[in-house]
Amino acid sequence: MRICLAGWTGSGRHDSSSDIGWVEAATLSGSSDPTSEGRFTVGSRGRFIVLICAVRQLPASLTSLPTVTRLDLATLVRPEWHPEAGVSRDCAVFGYVIDHPDGAILVDTGVGQGNAFIDDAYRPQCTDLHDALATAGVTLRSVVTVVNSHLHFDHCGQNPLLYGTDVAFFVGRLEIEQVDRDPYYTDSTWALPPLHQRRLVDGDLEIAEGVTILSTPGHTAGHQSVLIDSDEGRIVIGAQVVWNTQEFIDEIATESNVDSEDLRI
Ligand SMILES: [Zn+2]
Repeated sequence: MRICLAGWTGSGRHDSSSDIGWVEAATLSGSSDPTSEGRFTVGSRGRFIVLICAVRQLPASLTSLPTVTRLDLATLVRPEWHPEAGVSRDCAVFGYVIDHPDGAILVDTGVGQGNAFIDDAYRPQCTDLHDALATAGVTLRSVVTVVNSHLHFDHCGQNPLLYGTDVAFFVGRLEIEQVDRDPYYTDSTWALPPLHQRRLVDGDLEIAEGVTILSTPGHTAGHQSVLIDSDEGRIVIGAQVVWNTQEFIDEIATESNVDSEDLRI
């Protein structure tokens, strides 16, 4: 099974642990049999937060694994005050597209345009979503579903390209509530889909044959990952479930992944 990470993956540490943005679950402690049921966890000071859970028996499964392509959506320069700035100032922002038989499923949309604060603080270099999808042979019009792992500005920035259509956006209910509560959480014009396109998610949810959203709080309260299940194997798109793959390998999560004590179990 592959675990894919999206966004904020510091380029230096990212490249040192995986050159294409995913790690094989078999390399992780506690997952010697990648086909077995289980939970993947990252320790934090003797306690544990669930970063990727589930991998249980699911009712529907695809016969073959759909193609999952990483999208290079942006690069950022972390400002000095950022909690991970000491690790790496440069970082990459990824999304993923799943070539599902029912239509393309997009996971995260990168950074948007026109936010003066973000432009000044993070100096984003963005790739237009049309161009990023083209590298996977996918057009924006063929996208039928978007999953936002969470609503920080670097995961929902190009959502508006699909606003005003019938594309469904699966977003954690807690993320929407956080945007409504905190004006500094994200850029709300990027993050909030029109009401008719919102599909609010509480917990795990199968959204297409063989494709299930997994609740993976930790980085944020409403963070979610995507499990793709087939007879050929499984892929988990972990998004920003950790800052970098090394955290999986070391089983140590940084404090900035953890929203609150309540989320640690
Ligand atoms: Zn984030």
